[in-house]
Amino acid sequence: MVSKCLYCGNELVEVMSWKGLFYRVPPFLCNECEKHLMIIDGKRCSGCSRSLEELSSDFIKGEQCLDCDRWESDYEWKGVLRQNESLYQYNDFLKEYLAQYKYRGDYVLAKPFAHTLKNYIEKSEIDIVIPIPLSDERLYERGFNQSTALLEEAEVRPSCLLTRFHSEKQSKKTRKERLQQEQVFQLGEVDVKGKSILLFDDIYTTGTTLRQAAKLLKEAGAAEVSSLTLARG
Ligand SMILES: [Zn+2]
Ligand SMILES: [Zn+2]
Repeated sequence: MVSKCLYCGNELVEVMSWKGLFYRVPPFLCNECEKHLMIIDGKRCSGCSRSLEELSSDFIKGEQCLDCDRWESDYEWKGVLRQNESLYQYNDFLKEYLAQYKYRGDYVLAKPFAHTLKNYIEKSEIDIVIPIPLSDERLYERGFNQSTALLEEAEVRPSCLLTRFHSEKQSKKTRKERLQQEQVFQLGEVDVKGKSILLFDDIYTTGTTLRQAAKLLKEAGAAEVSSLTLARG
């Protein structure tokens, strides 16, 4: 069978191997592209999955990065998000890849992650998986929510319980400004009491967005909120 790499278009040659006999996931990316997808391994922050190996010791406190330490030292945010897990490093390749996926709407680019996401979510003991929503404005512009589409491709049923009523353009604000602004999410008429919830997003950058969503869910009675992102920025 010959098909093409979803990203670069090079021909894929399926190599028969012992592994292939038991574990047949069709390849979506050529070896060249695949090797740029870097799984975060080695020592990572217990709070946010950031690789601790590339951080200087000034930015590490115990098992955590300084950012997580700061979140957990703030009584308003302590424990709001139990933990973030990220699968891949947000390197130049993944940045470019996700840009193509998101902005050009190449849905099909979700496929190479489906298997890993499905496995991860099946293993975790979670009641509800909620993708971080886009604002209506952004959804209209883009035509789809990249996080919801990733989950659907992984055969995970997303529960779209949150709506977002503020612009995503937060980058010019300082951390303090972002935190002080009012809640950006709204929770639908659903009972999340006692539930264990997984938030899902494409990238973890500052962790602010995920924590704002987690806070709302905790205030509504969720037992525990953690998050999973494809990449750790
Ligand atoms: Zn390729
Ligand atoms: Zn961290």
